[in-house]
Amino acid sequence: MDAGASTGSLAREAASDRSRKMERRAFGTGGPEVPVIGQGTWKMERDDPAQAIAALRRGLELGMTHVDTAEMYGMGEVEELLCRALEGRRDQVFLVSKVVPQNASFAGTVKSCESSLRRLGTDRLDCYLLHWPGPHPFGETLRAFQQLQQEGKIRSYGVSNFGVEELEDAVALAGPGKIACNQVLYHLKDRSIEQALLPRCQALGVALVGYSPFGAGDFPSANSAGGKVLRSVAKEHGVSPYAVALRFLLREAGTFVIPKASSASHVEENAAAGDLQLSAEELSKIDAAF
Ligand code: NAP
Repeated sequence: MDAGASTGSLAREAASDRSRKMERRAFGTGGPEVPVIGQGTWKMERDDPAQAIAALRRGLELGMTHVDTAEMYGMGEVEELLCRALEGRRDQVFLVSKVVPQNASFAGTVKSCESSLRRLGTDRLDCYLLHWPGPHPFGETLRAFQQLQQEGKIRSYGVSNFGVEELEDAVALAGPGKIACNQVLYHLKDRSIEQALLPRCQALGVALVGYSPFGAGDFPSANSAGGKVLRSVAKEHGVSPYAVALRFLLREAGTFVIPKASSASHVEENAAAGDLQLSAEELSKIDAAF
């Protein structure tokens, strides 16, 4: 074995070791254990398909088995890409998709779910979400979710972009412990959910899934004050500032993140947050910097 191959296999060993250590948390009340770091797929139809598929599969190897998509992404194209990426791997994945609000009538939700299942090449979703509150009363969408769940087409359901009142109303309609998650914007430059929504989700037993955890392309620049703090903490732990950011966003109970990455190297950097432990002092430095 040459030196390069040996380094490669060591890196793979270290990575698979990391996969064993990927932290998992209960997803909602009484839900399955789901890795704290998942994989987003928004705009993936614009990426090189072979590279995106390889990146997603690398993520699965590293334990990032929570895969988030939506019927809206690439107008169904991303779900079709996922069908290829997940071939032979479906059983390891916690697969989430979403219905767009315009389609979220009772009949529309059922139809959208069945179309998503067809595009994804699977017979069930692990969680099905309403993408954001819209024109149809949530009670109608909920009835469809309940029927889909009884039919085994979805294992659980949740919401996205719901504020405190919307979430409380949804929980009141669905009953305690039924809404698995609320997927919301959460990154270092926008921590507004920490004020009221996060504590409410925790009190209601609703998983908080942070989307755009890197600010969807607006990650703190390396030379900004916050960026320097991230870099120094990252250096201490031998990880990238992106991993540090993810771990900071995961410091509260009941939280998950779904970064999107279209290269295996980015995925590997992000997976390193799976077992990263930041000290109270490091967390408070980051807290103060943002
Ligand atoms: P994001 O995850 O905050 O950022 C994605 C960007 O970060 C991509 O440009 C990616 O580049 C880059 N990146 C990833 N890992 C990196 C690393 N280690 N180093 C440097 N750059 C890195 O943005 P997002 O896609 O908006 O959010 C994540 C997911 O949340 C979405 O894909 C989607 O599944 C979900 N989402 C949900 C909603 C909703 O309304 N429910 C809204 C927005 C997003 P590469 O692609 O080149 O790797």
